[in-house]
Parts: sequence; structure tokens; C-alpha cells
Amino acid sequence: MNAASGMQRVTYSNLRSDFSGVHAELDRRIGEFERRELGRPRANRIGGRDDTRGVAYATASPIDADLVLATHFAADGDAVDAAVEAARAAFGDWSRRAPDTRIRILRAVADELERRKWDLAIAALLEVGKSRLEAMGEAEEAIDMIRYYAAEFEEEAPWQRPLQRAFAGEETVDRLRPHGVFGVIAPFNYPVALSVGMLTGAILTGNTAVYKPSPGTGLTARLLVDAFQASGLPPGVVNLVCGGADTGRLLVHHPGVAGFVFTGSHRIGMEILRHCAGGRYARPVIAEMGGKNPAFVTAHADIDTAAEGVARSAFGLSGQKCSALSRVFVHAAVYDPFVERLASRTRGLAVGDPRAAGVFTGPVIDAQAGLRFAAAVADARAAGGTVRCGGERLTGGIMDRGTYLPPTIVEGIAADHRISRDELFVPFVTLHPFDDLAAAIREGNAVDYGLTAGIYTGDAAELAAFVESAEAGVLYANRPSGATTGAWPGIQSFCGWKGSGTSGKGGLGPHYLAQFMREQSCTIMRS
Ligand code: NAD
Repeated sequence: MNAASGMQRVTYSNLRSDFSGVHAELDRRIGEFERRELGRPRANRIGGRDDTRGVAYATASPIDADLVLATHFAADGDAVDAAVEAARAAFGDWSRRAPDTRIRILRAVADELERRKWDLAIAALLEVGKSRLEAMGEAEEAIDMIRYYAAEFEEEAPWQRPLQRAFAGEETVDRLRPHGVFGVIAPFNYPVALSVGMLTGAILTGNTAVYKPSPGTGLTARLLVDAFQASGLPPGVVNLVCGGADTGRLLVHHPGVAGFVFTGSHRIGMEILRHCAGGRYARPVIAEMGGKNPAFVTAHADIDTAAEGVARSAFGLSGQKCSALSRVFVHAAVYDPFVERLASRTRGLAVGDPRAAGVFTGPVIDAQAGLRFAAAVADARAAGGTVRCGGERLTGGIMDRGTYLPPTIVEGIAADHRISRDELFVPFVTLHPFDDLAAAIREGNAVDYGLTAGIYTGDAAELAAFVESAEAGVLYANRPSGATTGAWPGIQSFCGWKGSGTSGKGGLGPHYLAQFMREQSCTIMRS
């Protein structure tokens, strides 16, 4: 329970609860938020001041193209220079603050986000088109993330330890120190949680930040930065520059930025990594990228649990999660009953305006995603596949003013077809029968990604084989709440292997913060 309001929190561990109180609150708040907050200019924030340099652009909700959200400013070269300069100017003081001071301020940010969580969730709902519970869960996760990282940082503080001595009178201390200015570049799908997670990693450890959100999520970004500043964060520690690829490129090419934390697609993450490796010296890039996540349903699975978990992970947020399930390998002995149950569960998922309480999933982010979906369906049909559910864009009413796609299940596609290998980021899943679990797991691994994987089995040997051989940073077994999705600070760490990440360490877990610092040993002769 949320101590402040007595309201139940939407968290990972209680997602299947009844949230009637939360819905009643949202019934009241969504319209009020739209009237109060939408349609206004939202300046960037540089050195604690509003900044409107760059080209103005308006954003509309994917829910309804007529719902104008805000006007933002795509930061130009001058604005990016100013933001980096402000972050550099703030670095000296911020990095020298005692860890306790930074922890205290970040905890104050968490408290402030808690007070503002309804606004943040509604902004994310409108900007991304995510369902009510996805949006509230994301806001709650952001708050827990700060508290988790603060506790982790506190446990290791002051992040230094004595080393052994080679000579009498000599003392060596090893410590981790911040790099300087971090570029923080966020994707569209979790504008609150991922931005807060990356910003917290950067600044808690003593760096300062220039934060570039996804171009369509500048409203949540500005609300977040306002909350950070209202909590006592000194000006210049977090600077906001909105815009798209051009602004991102200006930031990545800026010599004043010491390192990057990025979450987004493999293509852009690798572009940033290559650029940062190719200068006079390499700059760190902590990148979390895409996925093509498999699940396995064996002959020993509980079919109802499997169908529930598969439907939730494949179609939650309309398939627009990095951890979304996109390939299901099903043992031939249970293939028909499983598909039957999955299809029936899937047909029961409500797609529509996510402002309404009963809606499971809303629109996809843009028309481009609609084109990717249509191409995947056409390619599946051309390759002899069968569309078992969905397949055609939804139309009528509000659905004509956004891109609404039905949860789509495809059978009869080779496991090495491009739609079984590429990240599609739409509500589209392919099914593949198997006889040999080891071979199916090898097939599941045969992609460039390695983010999440799941299994449904009641057999201990099968479970052990999966845990031993699945090439992914996040594994799940027998979960009705999601075959390959669901992560929470301190409960599951979230690390991308292979093409899903660059550092071999993930967010939400015990190894995240150390990535934002560099090691220094200091040996001093005392006598
Ligand atoms: P994207 O890669 O298109 O954009 C991510 C960010 O990069 C945006 O802010 C964008 O404006 C910026 N950008 C674009 N071009 C750039 C450039 N040349 N230089 C610098 N910045 C640039 O991703 P998206 O469509 O916003 O998000 C979806 C992707 O994110 C999917 O691939 C998804 O799997 C991935 N994702 C991964 C995780 C994870 O934890 N692994 C979490 C969420 C999303």
C-alpha cells in the first residue's frame, strides 16, 4: 500500500490484483490532466533555465492524432553546446559532494515523483498509448528504481577500499570515480522508468547529465526534470534537450561528453558505440538494446498457464517491449491444445483507447509500426504461413485516428525466416512446433539478440537444460504473468546479452551503478 494515500500501488508483484481504487482515481484525473497540461509549449531545460533554441515541433498522441500534447524544441547545435557546458560546469561541485548528500537528494526526488506519479503516468499513457496499468506500473517502477539504486549506492559507499601493500610505509586505495558528463538517450516505450533509471545511474554516481528523450515523449521528460529540480538537485546536474536523431547525433558527436547511457534499438546503439570507439580515445557506452525473445512450451507444461503468460508477453504494450515475446516453440504433443487456448485467450484481449479501464492494450506508436506489421503479415503469407489470429489493422472511430493493431498469431513460418529473426516491435508472434527441446533452444539462440527467454515445463531436467543453455540475460520459467516480460528493481536485473547490450551488466540489479564510474588506484608512501 502507498502509505501517503492508502491507495494500492500498481507493482510487478501484484499486477493481477483488483485495482478499482486506481481506476476510480484515473477516471477523475485523466480528463483533468488533459485540460490542465496539454497543448502548451515545453521548453528545454539548460543550467536550470528554460531554453527554446532550435526548431519548434508539436506532438500528438498515438491514441488520437487530433489530441495535441505539446510543443517542444529540437535542440540545435547552440543548445546542445550550452547543455553540455552547463553539465560540465556543474560537474566539479556535484562530483565532490559526499555520497550521502547525493543519496539524500535522489531520495527526495523519489518522494517528489511519488507525489507526482499520477501526472507522470497519465503523460506516459497519452504519449505512448499504453494502458492504465502499464502506465501506473511504470511510474511506480521509476520510484522504486531510485530507492533501490540509492540503497545499493549507500551499501558500497564510499566506493573505495584499501589494497594490499608491497612495501612498508606504502598505502594504496582503490576507488571508483565519475567520468564527467553523461549523455542520457532514451527510447519511446518507457519514457518515465527508463529515463529515471539511466539518469539516476549517471548522477547518483557523481556524473552530470544531458538528457535527450525520444522526440514524442518530451512532456514526460519535462515533467520529470521539473520534479528533479523541485527536489533540490542543483541546476546543471540534469539538462534536458528534446529532439530526434539530429539532436541525438549532436550530443553523441560532442567532445565535451565523457560517456553515454543509451536504451533503444540495436541499430542506433551500435552507431553510438562505433562512434565512441573511433575517436582519439574510446568513451564508455552503456547500451541496452532490442530483443527477439523466445519461449518454450514443452510436453510437460501447464497449458493454461503457458497460454496466459505467452499472450501477456507477446501482446502487452502491443508488442512494443524490448522483452516482448515474438517466437514460441511448442512441443508437437501439446501443439494443438496450446494453440487453441492461446488463440482463445488472445481473442479476449481488448484493444482500444487506453484511457478506458478495460483496455488491455492501445495503439502502436506510429504509422511506421503499422507498415512494419503489414509487411510482416504479407511476408508470412507469401512464405506459406497461416495467420491464426489478427492480421488486419483495426479501423472505425478513434482507431481511424491512430494505428491500432490486433494481437496476431502466425503459424507455419520457418524459424530462420526474417520475421522469426528480426525485432518487429508490433503485436506479432510466430509459433514453431518441435520434438527435441535442445534443438528448439538452439534455434531460439540463433539470433543476434539475447535479452529474455522463458519456458513452461513441469520437468526438472527440461528446466535445467533451459537455464543452462538459453543465451539471454533474463530467464523466466512457468510464469502466468508473462513468459518473457516483467522486471522490477531488486527483483529481476535486466541485462542484454549479445546484440541486446554492450556492457554485460544490466539495469535494476547490483552491477548497474559501477558502470557509471572509472577505477583509480592511488599509492602513497607514508614514511
Ligand atoms: P530508437 O533507437 O529509434 O531511439 C532511441 C533514442 O535514440 C531516441 O531518443 C532517438 O531519438 C535517439 N536517436 C535516434 N537516432 C540517433 C542517432 N543517430 N544518434 C543519437 N541518438 C539517436 O529506439 P525507439 O524506437 O525509441 O525504442 C525502441 C527500441 O528500444 C527497441 O529496439 C527496443 O527493443 C529498445 N528497448 C530496449 C530496452 C532494453 O532495456 N534493452 C528497453 C526499452 C526499449
